[in-house]
Amino acid sequence: MPGLFIDVQVDERVAKDAELARKLSEICAVDIFAQKEDGSLRIVEENLDECVLCDLCIQAAPEGAVRVVKLYED
Ligand code: SF4
Repeated sequence: MPGLFIDVQVDERVAKDAELARKLSEICAVDIFAQKEDGSLRIVEENLDECVLCDLCIQAAPEGAVRVVKLYED
């Protein structure tokens, strides 16, 4: 389920990459990414609306693999 204002979508193939999941968990200042027990990526839904649109997660992932979607108009 997306947040009220922000949704973060990650390609399934990339979400299974434990190394990338670790990297994303580290770089997001508002803890939107975490790791499941098997190392794969978990989106922390309750933190989604804290996203500051810094784009660090997008830059850290292969092109197009992470999408931060604004659910509101500017
Ligand atoms: S854009 Fe920044 S704050 Fe938002 S999910 Fe990505 S790393 Fe976290």
